Amino acid sequence: MDHDVDGGTGVAASRLVDSFGRIIDDLRISVTDRCNFRCTYCMPEEGMKWLPRSQVMSFEEIEQLARIFVERYGVRGIRLTGGEPTVRAHLPTLVEKLAALEGPSGRVDLAMTTNGATLRSSARTLRRAGLNRVNISLDTLDRRRFEEMTRRDELDNVLDGIEAAQEAGFDPVKINAVVERGVNDDEILALAEFGRARRLEVRFIEFMPLDADGHWVDDMVVGQDEIVAVIDAVYPLEQLPARGAAPADRFRYLDGGGTVGVIPTVTKPFCGDCDRVRLTAEGQFRTCLFATEEHDLLAALRRGETADEIAARIESAVAAKWAGHRISKVDFVRPGKSMSQIGG
Ligand code: SAM
Repeated sequence: MDHDVDGGTGVAASRLVDSFGRIIDDLRISVTDRCNFRCTYCMPEEGMKWLPRSQVMSFEEIEQLARIFVERYGVRGIRLTGGEPTVRAHLPTLVEKLAALEGPSGRVDLAMTTNGATLRSSARTLRRAGLNRVNISLDTLDRRRFEEMTRRDELDNVLDGIEAAQEAGFDPVKINAVVERGVNDDEILALAEFGRARRLEVRFIEFMPLDADGHWVDDMVVGQDEIVAVIDAVYPLEQLPARGAAPADRFRYLDGGGTVGVIPTVTKPFCGDCDRVRLTAEGQFRTCLFATEEHDLLAALRRGETADEIAARIESAVAAKWAGHRISKVDFVRPGKSMSQIGG
């Protein structure tokens, strides 16, 4: 691990650096494996086996583990995800605890990825509790298709949730749209226009082999070049300079209509710049979305291991972080968990 000294406090801080020199700066925490939607590209319609409550990290356990990442390793960003994070009871209490964490470079930047369906009732409370940013998933603007894709008739609530997030002062609000060929790829332009009209940055996500039903095939992926070409033909785009460690390539509308992004995990992997690690709802530490190996930090915590001992586990796991995923390569092995079980 690299060591340096924070100028303000004089406290020695080390960064988590993997064997390829990538600095870990972003921790994704799944707060629940449960979800109120059943998106076809993520979960099965029925038969999902939920974690027993006793195996899910408590708020105190999440805070203790997050504290190690933020205070000891200077991790600056935490994103809450799931499952659907808003179905976890008393979520604002957790937000308050995490938002108060402070590393060598200041308060943690706390974000959440949500399907947005209940934000009308919770956006203001979450914002007041210290949540900085929200990404809301929306793959279609067509009610019937929405019901087919999510297996829930909730489009109106999600649209209302997006408005509620903006009214609560979240800025920017980003929209995540997974594009699947033959499912919603005819809506790329409509979704882009939706973002332009409402000052939302839409980020199109390439479909990844993390669906519980296992129906992903390469041909269903609509790649970044194709997505950009569809939009650019009507609203000319210019790519913004290097994205750093962020997952989205970003583009600016030349007419001043804002920005749009694409997360090109499959066709233009960005693993070389990856700064992310993940904690699943049951406290398993993963150093890659597609990792086939996990490290049980919750069990270590519950056994009474000290922060130093847990930190040593984190460091050795990070040291073994893969160079990159192997999607579309012959030796690709699908993780045993779906996106909702990992925490996207
Ligand atoms: N329930 C929340 C939501 O809907 O955003 C958070 C969890 S969800 C697993 C996080 C993100 O993963 C969502 O934007 C979702 O669209 C995306 N996702 C799920 N399965 C995916 C897949 N197979 N390929 C690409 N993105 C996927």
